[in-house]
Amino acid sequence: MLKRVVIKMSGEALAGNSSQNFDNTVIENIIAQIQTVMEKGIQVSVVVGGGNFWRGRSADSSMDRCTADQIGMLATVMNALYVQDSFRQKGVEAIVMTPFTVGSMTEPFTKKAALAYMEAGAVLIFAGGTGHPFFSTDTITSLRAAELEADMILFAKFVDGVYDSDPNENEAAVKFDTIKCSDVISKNLKVVDLAAASICLEQKIPVVIFGLNEENSIVRAATGEKIGTVVTV
Ligand code: UDP
Repeated sequence: MLKRVVIKMSGEALAGNSSQNFDNTVIENIIAQIQTVMEKGIQVSVVVGGGNFWRGRSADSSMDRCTADQIGMLATVMNALYVQDSFRQKGVEAIVMTPFTVGSMTEPFTKKAALAYMEAGAVLIFAGGTGHPFFSTDTITSLRAAELEADMILFAKFVDGVYDSDPNENEAAVKFDTIKCSDVISKNLKVVDLAAASICLEQKIPVVIFGLNEENSIVRAATGEKIGTVVTV
């Protein structure tokens, strides 16, 4: 049984099928699954993306990249506050931690505080990415997993695993049950960004990539059921 996992939720996942920024049905389902995982004694932290609001790379080319990325990082803070309140509504204590100060809205990340909160039964939400431009929230997911000595990273995606080609464009695309992290890097498969994959490889953190749309997929991934694609290290 795993002791501690980090779950990555993209902004796109939070938006689900809604034309708005948030799909409450999707978010409530995620929270219910995380509650189930925590009831099994597994400590959970969640990294939220910001793509439902803004991604640095989608900015106009005339825009300064650092500013574009700062907007993206702030978008993740908005997502985190929304998700935190959704947890509160379900009676679960959730703490938002950021690598930079956001007044009294979030707490600064420290390993010691993060571990203490999880020991006390809270779920952590990491927002603000790394705090630096030119990175993505995939990178902070693997960094936090390394810092918190997590047993596994769960990447909940729209696509239900890693394919040899884009399944939306190629009907014959083949899904891998397992793939080596070194192959994800050398074949540049773009399932997670390269910086994140390198940290997972170096720190030997296994990753499972699975579809959020599959029933109970977070619980199944966190309890070791065969689902999605396992990235071995
Ligand atoms: N971002 C950043 N540094 C980080 C993490 C995120 O600059 O360490 C910015 C970047 O512009 C990114 C945006 O925040 O496009 C939103 O994050 P991401 O694209 O990872 O969100 P997701 O696609 O997972 O929703």
